[in-house]
Formats: sequence, structure tokens, C-alpha cells
Amino acid sequence: MAKEIDTDIAVVGAGPAGLAAALALAHVGAKVVLIGPSAGGAGAGETRTAALLKSSVDLLKALKVWDALLSRAAPLKAIRIVDATGGLVRAPEIEFRSSELGLEAFGYNIANTTLVEALEDRAAKVLHAIEPESVAKIEPMAGLVVLTCKSGKKMTARLVVGADGRRSICREAASIAVKEWRYDQAAIATSFGHARPHDFVSTELHASGGSLTTVPLPGPHASSLIFVGATAEIEAFMRLDTASFRAVLEERLGGLLGSIDEVGARASFPVASLSAESLVGPRTALVGEAAHILPPIGAQGLNLGFRDAAALADCVAVAHRRSSDPGADDVLKAYARARKLDIATRTLGVDLLARSLLTDFLPMQAARSLIVHGLNRIAPLRRLAMRAGLAPPTELPSLMQPVPDW
Ligand SMILES: Cc1cc2nc3c(=O)[nH]c(=O)nc-3n(C[C@H](O)[C@H](O)[C@H](O)COP(=O)(O)OP(=O)(O)OC[C@H]3O[C@@H](n4cnc5c(N)ncnc54)[C@H](O)[C@@H]3O)c2cc1C
Repeated sequence: MAKEIDTDIAVVGAGPAGLAAALALAHVGAKVVLIGPSAGGAGAGETRTAALLKSSVDLLKALKVWDALLSRAAPLKAIRIVDATGGLVRAPEIEFRSSELGLEAFGYNIANTTLVEALEDRAAKVLHAIEPESVAKIEPMAGLVVLTCKSGKKMTARLVVGADGRRSICREAASIAVKEWRYDQAAIATSFGHARPHDFVSTELHASGGSLTTVPLPGPHASSLIFVGATAEIEAFMRLDTASFRAVLEERLGGLLGSIDEVGARASFPVASLSAESLVGPRTALVGEAAHILPPIGAQGLNLGFRDAAALADCVAVAHRRSSDPGADDVLKAYARARKLDIATRTLGVDLLARSLLTDFLPMQAARSLIVHGLNRIAPLRRLAMRAGLAPPTELPSLMQPVPDW
């Protein structure tokens, strides 16, 4: 018996990547249902912020979400990298300034909870439906996919977008294998107030076996912090009371932003890499952390997830214009092709950087130092590196095309 199709596209997972994908797909005219518990109420567990690069901000503008975020986002005007490894060959300090590329800012830093809240508000206005439930079972069939929620509710769609994070059941149902590796590291995400203004500069202190990154928050005297270290060390820091943790932070930052006053809630995250062997399976496309997880160095993770969302919207738009099936093989193949190089180069680049910081191997330290010397002295090389960090080696999807006011 032929089943009735409830929706063109079911997006599973209402985290930031799923919300962005649902909005981007609705923007190109698809009928979209978003299924997943709200990620906005994650409360104390979600202490992360996202440094969103220019193309991600352009996507939020195109999706009409940006206006609600601007006053709660801090521009990133410069990125400073300091080698505090204490190795025999130390790299010099380097600062990348957005003005060198003629940009007001590289991007903006926003609390994940604020971002999700703004995306949810927009989703409530434009999506066909939102089901705040977990999906328990996904069965790809000829012509459609059947989704069963934990409550027993069933739904059918022509295309399932797996935005259900690290342990994706969409990925599992589509029999997509993953490569996963760990670094025996974890990261604390928190925020703090400081006496000296940040001047909209993000500083990465690369120490041996870890790193500390401060990222400006709105207001001159507040920053978010990503503290990466060996798993045992991070677990010990998580057990400290606030005053003791603040003392550790003061010591590690060495007066970088002056004395530290308030420290916000802390949460820790494993540092791991995960790479799906394919972005697509039967009537399934993966986006965000369901497809790729990177260590939190260089602010690449969610930016990559947003590029997945926008690229998938381009591929579905073509099918939509022809009134054809959004879950058809040619749509899925086009999506996998469009995302391959960007994901592969970011995964490799961030992995190399993470490993280079973990090693005491002298030639590796020397290579890092040589690269930084070159970047410091040769302006065109520095601009090339900045452009590579900002955008993929392929053309940006339509919804990320530059908006004139940058
Ligand atoms: C310390 C740290 C700092 C970071 N900083 C940055 C940064 O500055 N810039 C940047 O770009 N990236 C950054 N990242 C990466 C970024 O935080 C992640 O890439 C992003 O949060 C992942 O979003 P997502 O929507 O793909 O996954 P998730 O946020 O994991 O969302 C997945 C959603 O799927 C839902 N779900 C799971 N299973 C089901 C199911 N069966 N049914 C329905 N729903 C389901 C979950 O409830 C969840 O809401 C950082 C990461 C860390 C750890």
C-alpha cells in the first residue's frame, strides 16, 4: 500500500546545525518538518560560544536571523596567536587583523544558547512544523523514509537530514560508517570578566599539550574561554571551586586581560575528531556534527555545519525548481560532491594543528616556527592564510554569498 508523504524533508536534530539546515531548506521552498527536543533549554550544560565567520553571518542574514543577534554578538577584529609551548624552537607571536582584508571583522562571537534561541524563534515562524520529540527509528524505503518518534508518532518524508549530532541515528540507519579518533584531551568552555578591555581581539595561547583561547563577548570586559588540556588535567580543573579555578586562569593567562573577576559556569567537552565516510545514504544527508567533529581549535566546527546547511539548500533548490524529488540520488550526490573538499581540508588542517601542539618533536616545532615567521613577514602569505581560514577552497553556497554591508 502506498504511503502518503507528510513532508518533503524531515530534519532530525534541533541543534544549531539542524535549525540552520531547516531554515535554509524552507528558504528555497521545501516543505520542512524539524524533529528534535529544543536545544535552547540546555542551560548550564551549554556554556559554549560560537565564533561565527563572515560566511556564517551572511547565512544568518539571508535567513533573517541576524537582526535578533547583532546586539548580543561581539565582532572579532583580530586574532593573536602566542606560542607558550616553552619548546626549544618557539614561534614568534602573530596577529591577524580583519582590516588587512578590508573587513570590519572576521566574524562574531555569540553564546550558543543565544544563537539557538534566535534560530528557534525564526523556525517557529517559517517551518511547516516543529516536533519537539526524539526520533527512535528511521527506515529508508523505496520512495520515502518512515520516521518513528519515541512517543510512537510516525511520519514520512522524501529526504531525511541527519543533524542529530555525535551519536546520529540517521547516520546509523543509513549504514554510514565513521572514522573517529581521540587526542586524550578535553576542553572547558566558560566565560569570565576581566579588568583590561579585549579590544575585540581573540588570543590563542598555544601551550605544550593544550591551548587557551579567549574570545571577546559583547562589552569590553567579558570574554569566553576555551581551555584545552590533557583529559585528567581538565577533569581536575572541573572539580575546582570557582575561586580556585579563577586562580588557575589568572596564572595561565599571565595578566593577558588584567585581573579576572567573575568566572561563569563551566562545562567540559571531549576533544575528538569524527568523520563520516559518506555525507549521504539512502534518502539521507548528514549535516553538522552528525557528519564531522573537529577539535575546538580555530573556530571551524559550526562554521562547517552552516556551510553544509547552505550547500544542501542549493542542491535541493535545483530539485525544487524542477518539481522533482529532493531525496533523489542526483540531489544527494551533488551535495556530497559540493562538500567533500571543504570538509576534508578543514578536518586535516585542524587535526595537524592539534597534533603539532601535542608533540615535543623538534622538527615539528621548527616547522611551526618557520611557518609563523613567514606569515609575520610576508603580507600576501598572511592574507592568503586569513582567506583560507575564513572560507572554503570552493565557491560559497548561494545563501552565503557576501552581503554588501561588510
Ligand atoms: C569547547 C568548544 C568550542 C567550540 N567553539 C566553536 C566556535 O567558536 N566556532 C565554531 O564554528 N564551532 C565551535 N565549536 C563546535 C560547535 O560547538 C559544534 O559544531 C556545534 O555545536 C554542533 O552543532 P550540531 O547542531 O551539529 O550538533 P548538536 O549541537 O550536538 O545538536 C544535535 C541535536 O540533535 C539532537 N538529537 C540527537 N539525537 C536525536 C534523535 N534521535 N532525535 C531527535 N533529535 C536528536 C540533540 O538533542 C541535539 O539538539 C566548539 C566546540 C567545542 C566543544
